[in-house]
Amino acid sequence: MTGAGIDEARRIVVKIGSALLIDDGTGALRRDWLRSFAGDVARMRGRGREVAIVSSGAIAFGRRQLGLTGQALALEEKQAAAAVGQIHLAHAWQEALAAHGLTLAQVLLSLSDTEERRRHLNARETLTQLFGLGAVPLINENDTVATEEIRFGDNDRLAARVAQMVSADLLVLLSDIDGLYDRDPRLHDDARHIPEVSALTDDIRAMAGEPRPGYSSGGMVTKLEAARIAVGAGCAMIVSDGRTANPIRRLEAGERHTRFAPAASAGTARKRWIAGALGNDARIAVDAGAANALRRGKSLLPAGVTAVEGQFRRGDAVRIVGPDGAEIAIGLIAYDADAARKIAGRQSHEIEALLGYKGRDVLVHRDDMVEQGLREAALRDTD
Ligand code: GLU
Repeated sequence: MTGAGIDEARRIVVKIGSALLIDDGTGALRRDWLRSFAGDVARMRGRGREVAIVSSGAIAFGRRQLGLTGQALALEEKQAAAAVGQIHLAHAWQEALAAHGLTLAQVLLSLSDTEERRRHLNARETLTQLFGLGAVPLINENDTVATEEIRFGDNDRLAARVAQMVSADLLVLLSDIDGLYDRDPRLHDDARHIPEVSALTDDIRAMAGEPRPGYSSGGMVTKLEAARIAVGAGCAMIVSDGRTANPIRRLEAGERHTRFAPAASAGTARKRWIAGALGNDARIAVDAGAANALRRGKSLLPAGVTAVEGQFRRGDAVRIVGPDGAEIAIGLIAYDADAARKIAGRQSHEIEALLGYKGRDVLVHRDDMVEQGLREAALRDTD
């Protein structure tokens, strides 16, 4: 088995479908289930894992409170329902996690936050900060302002984008079905469960069938789409039936699920992404001390920079060259070119006085950097 399983994963994104949180018949919150899942989260955190939750349910809760009972809601109705329901949802989560002494942080994302590089880096920074501070991010799509053309519409893909964004090593989609079958198990008694998917072949895709109606917008189709995003980013993915109490603990105990194996490690996938992102002649020259520090895997501080060449925006990939002009690494820079020129050669604590705002201490963070040898290897691999 390659990559993280539920026991080895360090950073885990768990997606909760509406059907788990909301009783199908009464529309009420499934409080006992939520309590049990909060216990699972506390247990993972207690073992040093970082956990983010992507929770659906805003529209489902809101529509009930607003008395929107029609089968299919219009976009404006969904937007209004989400505005009402998201408060309810976040409150329920906050209460459940607080019982375990955990701090919840609400993050509402739009499609562009995951697709546009600068916004992607910005959202990633926020989530990383929250992990570092020990909070549990609760993520949903910003459904209130999302329009049909610019919305995910399903949290399976959103969760996969989040997993990619934070370089998670495991994405768990808790659903109302225990994984992938070779055909729809609700229609065919002899449908065969698939425990492990090592590659997303056409045969596997053909097994997904059509999405089913009901509360959730997902179905196997969006789960396979999520798998494509996750495994391509080096993140393993598990689909399991999460309806019973303590779904994560049950997974650990071997409950049936489908696991999609990652195509590469998360670190490698991210470095490939950076390596492929270089598109201009921007160059940062550094002194010998900084060059040595970079070779030892450190971040690049403004103090070590001797020259800034070319035009670039924050989040662009730049080449980093040593005193002899040889390329050491490429990395995503935390400042626009003009700002980088102003702080070049200066100490990090001077940044605020030089720029008039307190930016990041590092010019290029080591997680955003690919050392030259690795970059060449990564580019070779992708050819
Ligand atoms: N973002 C939607 C909500 O919270 C759910 C999307 C989905 O069902 O996957 O209501």
